[in-house]
Amino acid sequence: MLPVFSPLGEEEVHLTESSGRYVSRDVTARFDSPPFDNSAMDGYAVRAADVASASPDAPVRLPVGGESRAGGPLPEPLRPGTACRIYTGAPMPAGADAVIMQEDTDTQGEEVTIRESSHEGKHVRAQGTDVSSGALLLQTGDRLWPGEIGLLASQNIDRVHVFRRPQVALLSTGDELRELGDDLEPGAIINSNVYVLTEMLRALGVNPVPLPAAPDTLPEVEAALRKALEADVVITMGGVSVGAYDFVHEAFKNVGVEPGFWKVRIKPGKPLAFAQYEGKPVVALPGNPISAMVTFEVLVAPCLRKMLGDPQPHPQPVVARLRNAYRRRPGRVEIARAVATREGDEIIVALHDRQGSGSLPSFVGVNALVILPSDRAELAAGDRVEAILWGPGLRGVSSVFEQMS
Ligand code: AMP
Ligand code: MG
Repeated sequence: MLPVFSPLGEEEVHLTESSGRYVSRDVTARFDSPPFDNSAMDGYAVRAADVASASPDAPVRLPVGGESRAGGPLPEPLRPGTACRIYTGAPMPAGADAVIMQEDTDTQGEEVTIRESSHEGKHVRAQGTDVSSGALLLQTGDRLWPGEIGLLASQNIDRVHVFRRPQVALLSTGDELRELGDDLEPGAIINSNVYVLTEMLRALGVNPVPLPAAPDTLPEVEAALRKALEADVVITMGGVSVGAYDFVHEAFKNVGVEPGFWKVRIKPGKPLAFAQYEGKPVVALPGNPISAMVTFEVLVAPCLRKMLGDPQPHPQPVVARLRNAYRRRPGRVEIARAVATREGDEIIVALHDRQGSGSLPSFVGVNALVILPSDRAELAAGDRVEAILWGPGLRGVSSVFEQMS
């Protein structure tokens, strides 16, 4: 299924709209950074040679000529044997090659007494030391986090090429489904999946297109599917099993959606199907809320990340230890809901005691999906397992920060 998902092409967006996007071209520096030699300290710009002999016992006195402050007028060139008052971020005067920090000086009127020697370049941020003009800043596939955005902003790069965000249609099926706020007559339930999947898509950075749920009739599922196929990717939910009212497979056939595979050896989530319509990916998730969430996270989200331009789209699990023993029927990979906590330098996962596939409360507070390999039937407390961190992420306060706040 992963090979069918490819980036859709690129678009240019303003840097302020680029958060979370993946760049579709390498980005290079427009100019040196820092763009000019400047002071790293408040103090005095000097020629290192003029203060080479300075020490607390034998300070050097220099007349102060001029001032350089950040954003102020450019300083005059430094005359040998003088100092220039300078502040952090201010341009170095021509001829100065070091800054003496204020703490190592005393000022008397127009003179400064310097108590420490220095050397060329000390406390000077030299032009181009962070970035030299033309250097590679970001590579295709890098994601724009605040740090990356800051780097581009510092380079006055206001527009950036990123991979397009796919539109992902969400089509629920089921006569029983109602939308939020609807009256629930006996037998009806809320279409909770569409709200879950909308949020999961948003978190990834794709555009969800939630469609009205289709009732369980073949013509209505077909019509809804045709509408859904206007998007870049289609995700259907429910109606993909073998029940008499499961019309998704038949609707695929009638609309010309070509079957790829059906059923995966994952628990929960067995009835997932993958298909294509003229090269467009179509995924049929099971209707069961837990199955839909879990299969989306482990199977579909990586495909969408790839489509967004992420060069490493697969889940990146951490290694953890089981808090309790767990017995299971082998044969399928099981994705178990768990609460992970940091204990010392280890992550301990406590499997939720309700692993049934329909129970939404069993997702509350879950911050890890534990991957139990298909061949493991008996797991002992302390066994190592892989876990995908999820939702609220790992909790655990460091004593360093507790003391600071
Ligand atoms: P299905 O896959 O259509 O057989 O549905 C399996 C179970 O999931 C049934 O109990 C459905 O009522 C429930 N279900 C299906 N779709 C949704 C949905 N969109 N939101 C919440 N529950 C659903
Ligand atoms: Mg159904």
